[in-house]
Amino acid sequence: MAYVYDDQNIFARILRGEIPNKTVLETEHSLAFHDIGPQAPCHVLVIPRGAYVSYDHFTAEASDAEILDFSRAVGEVCRMMEVSPAGTGQGYRLISNTGDHGHQEVPHLHVHVLGGRSLGRMLE
Ligand code: IMP
Repeated sequence: MAYVYDDQNIFARILRGEIPNKTVLETEHSLAFHDIGPQAPCHVLVIPRGAYVSYDHFTAEASDAEILDFSRAVGEVCRMMEVSPAGTGQGYRLISNTGDHGHQEVPHLHVHVLGGRSLGRMLE
């Protein structure tokens, strides 16, 4: 299976420092920043620094170190943004829109961290 990565996508440009972002967290293999059009009081995007289109692409080709770093970064963002139910920030939702059916706009893997309000039921 061939994954095709467009290195002109907006998150690639953010990673190269060509476009500013409101950074929440930087790690060796990941970056987290505020979404430009927030849908909730907490709306942060977490992305790997590597050139991956989707979660399946990432887990097929990334190193264990990248996968561990990204997974940890998502959890760290939830704690930093104080949306953890353990906190109690009352909880959050993680979303990764993928491909045409997932209505993915930016073709670089990203996880949305949404919280700070009740988000309603999504799946019935
Ligand atoms: P998705 O690909 O459908 O998951 O959506 C991409 C997300 O990226 C949207 O929520 C946009 O608001 C967000 N976005 C697009 N450009 C930027 C940017 O330059 N900075 C931060 N967020 C962005």
